[in-house]
Amino acid sequence: MSRDSLLADLRVAPGHGPGLLDRDPGERVGASSKKEGAARLAEVVERLGVLHNRLYAEASRSVLLVLQGMDASGKDGVIRSVFTGLNPQGCRVQSFKAPSPVELAHDFLWRVHQVCPARGEIVIFNRSHYEDIVAVRVRKLAEEKVWGKRYDHIRGFEKLLTDEGTTVVKVFLHVSRDEQRVRLQERLDDPEKRWKFRPGDLDDRALWDEFSVAYEDVLGETSTKAAPWYVVPADHNWSRNLAVAGILVAALEEIDPKLPEPVIEPTTIT
Ligand code: ADP
Repeated sequence: MSRDSLLADLRVAPGHGPGLLDRDPGERVGASSKKEGAARLAEVVERLGVLHNRLYAEASRSVLLVLQGMDASGKDGVIRSVFTGLNPQGCRVQSFKAPSPVELAHDFLWRVHQVCPARGEIVIFNRSHYEDIVAVRVRKLAEEKVWGKRYDHIRGFEKLLTDEGTTVVKVFLHVSRDEQRVRLQERLDDPEKRWKFRPGDLDDRALWDEFSVAYEDVLGETSTKAAPWYVVPADHNWSRNLAVAGILVAALEEIDPKLPEPVIEPTTIT
């Protein structure tokens, strides 16, 4: 299958729901085995490095990758594998935790806008403004009259970003409930991973169905032509990493950043 048709399969068509229940989190995307996937990933990451260098040198446009997903869907793993090989100058990871009192004293996009990418940068949001709909709705932190208006605000906000030169790509890591159990159990059992475990993870797991409905709605409401959502099967780490790296490379190839004209002719330096 060509890369374009693969990405088209993962993309949520504007105006349609993602149909999460019909998508298999265990699907292998981009390669048929872990070994082949690792080899492909190395190529894609290398290409990403070249394109990122051009984006940074051009310094006029930027890329924002939004990562959302249930707990243990692999957001941290994606970030580690996709950012390997990128120049730390010109890329940034921004994590969004529960808002502080100061952040809560402002509108929900206040803390988000100030950390969006500058020209030349790639920024990954590890969680994002989408928590202000999904988490707020499921945990009943505000009424529907508050979070229900946010779909529109987010569409407008992302339109502003894209109009101003930021390519916005959004990825939902689609993990199964079974695989989440395995991963959370691993976190508890492994002393090196136990720090990642929050008691709230179990409360959220109990709200699996509510989170699924909230994601189904939000992905359908906010996948636009300019800022599309992709649903990436996330039960196999290698396939998930390869898919996200591929999505990012495709976004950069679409922008086609150009190196600035050299200021001098090549010459031999003595
Ligand atoms: P992570 O799970 O991302 O590795 P944490 O365990 O610290 O990191 O979880 C961050 C928590 O912050 C998540 O439970 C997430 O739902 C919550 N959060 C982030 N943004 C918001 C928000 N705007 N409103 C409510 N909760 C939020």
